[in-house]
Amino acid sequence: MADDDTADDEVPEYVIPPGGGVPWMDLTDEESHRPAERDIEITDVSTMVLRGNFRWGIVRVETDAGVTGYGEVHGEGPQELGLLEGQNPLDVERVQDIRGAAGPGVEMALWDIKGKLLDVPAYELMGGKYRDSVEVYCDTHGGESLGEAQSGTVDPRDVYTPGSYAEAAREVVDAGFDALKFDLDVRTHADVDTAARRLDNAAIEHKTALVEAVREEVGYDVTLGFDLHWNFTVETATRLAEKLEPFDLAWLEDPVPPRKYDAHRRVREATSCPIMTGENLRDSGEFKEMLDADGMDVAAPDPHNCGGLRDFRRIAHLCDLEGVPIVAHNIQGPIGTVASAHAAATVPNFVALEYHAFDVPWFENLVSRIGASGDVIEDGEISLPEGPGLGVEIDWDVAREHMAAGEDVSL
Ligand code: MG
Repeated sequence: MADDDTADDEVPEYVIPPGGGVPWMDLTDEESHRPAERDIEITDVSTMVLRGNFRWGIVRVETDAGVTGYGEVHGEGPQELGLLEGQNPLDVERVQDIRGAAGPGVEMALWDIKGKLLDVPAYELMGGKYRDSVEVYCDTHGGESLGEAQSGTVDPRDVYTPGSYAEAAREVVDAGFDALKFDLDVRTHADVDTAARRLDNAAIEHKTALVEAVREEVGYDVTLGFDLHWNFTVETATRLAEKLEPFDLAWLEDPVPPRKYDAHRRVREATSCPIMTGENLRDSGEFKEMLDADGMDVAAPDPHNCGGLRDFRRIAHLCDLEGVPIVAHNIQGPIGTVASAHAAATVPNFVALEYHAFDVPWFENLVSRIGASGDVIEDGEISLPEGPGLGVEIDWDVAREHMAAGEDVSL
């Protein structure tokens, strides 16, 4: 510290400038964006649904400080938004506890507001980052049109072929992804009895051939998962998992119905194939039950379904205590995906974040990075935005093009 500079002398000695990517600033400096007083109020909360691959609910929170934040929910979001008016948006966790009004999208918007007010990225407010970028895994669906195959007009064996799976895997890997997932609960016989939750040997062989084809196409360096969407009995899930062991999968997802804690444990104990579950679990309590049951090798909390970013981080820490890594479920647009990436960067045991919108060509057009160039997802990764809050801004012309019927253009 310079001994002849009065401005420097005012800097407390215990403040150590960080070496990271965010410039240190004196929060007592009125030139900074720190509010002189803390009595900020939420003045309005509104939502708008876009037609992405699912219904992407954009949440907007406005304040009397002139700063607006955005978040995203699955579908329409909370309805009693008026309860939030007058609340202090800086009290993120307390406001998050207002049941019926707050929720994951509101929480994301509050982190966005707080980051913009303090001029720091959201991850900084959540404890700082373990990594500069988060790996993204691409959901590759069923390799072909699900709608056509499920319609009954074609034989599913003609659609879900080893060749179609391998071709889809190649396309995604060539697009830069090192991690991908396919659906494996696709129908393999026109006459399969799905209600029985059981597969015959021919169906098991067919699914094994799909997995083998993907592995042969992309090699063993690619992180590869398959999803069974809760469809099978312990007996069938176990028979299939054992067949898949030679292919070194990163995970086999949701083999049996959700919240069947003991059934998950029985499948897990019967195979070396890592078992993943969690997208349906709704809070940290349900994750604790699954952990206590030894029901999963990998946890898949969805920040939009498990309570929010705070709860996602809480779940990640619970899992870390038990040595369970996190592969986050996510089927949202770019706002929710970026918000999830901020939280994912702040927990130690994170592996990958789902990207479910490979088939939505305007995903990257909907937002741009604040103060920086580049797509949200590049080479299968999200480099953490360093702009304030979530670090992205919405292109409203693009949003208006994709609004669901009946939505208001004024948002
Ligand atoms: Mg899934």
